Amino acid sequence: MADECIFCKIIRGDFNTEFVYETENTVVFNDINPKAPIHMLVCPKVHVESLNELEDKNLMAELIQTVKDVTQKIGLKSYKTLINTGKEAGQEVFHLHIHILGNK
Ligand code: AMP
Repeated sequence: MADECIFCKIIRGDFNTEFVYETENTVVFNDINPKAPIHMLVCPKVHVESLNELEDKNLMAELIQTVKDVTQKIGLKSYKTLINTGKEAGQEVFHLHIHILGNK
């Protein structure tokens, strides 16, 4: 956990953010500024700055499995995923997250 990381704060419950889905090592919550009718973020519970710093292969697999499970849970069959890695690529929050974007 990083003290000043907004997503770490969300994950530890500081803002009472509702989790759409949760596994042992991941959480999913809605994006505060949605760019699609459905816009969720899948995050590891541990603080990993970006995809470049992700080394745990089990966690990689769990993150992708979480994408599959949460979309199945809400009945979303067609969706886009996006990972911004690095400031120049548009990463604004430096806690790894996978965007899931879909229509209702
Ligand atoms: P990125 O540009 O890939 O780092 O995406 C960061 C995303 O986090 C943006 O889509 C923001 O709207 C979203 N975001 C920032 N703060 C919050 C928050 N407190 N709760 C939910 N989503 C957030």
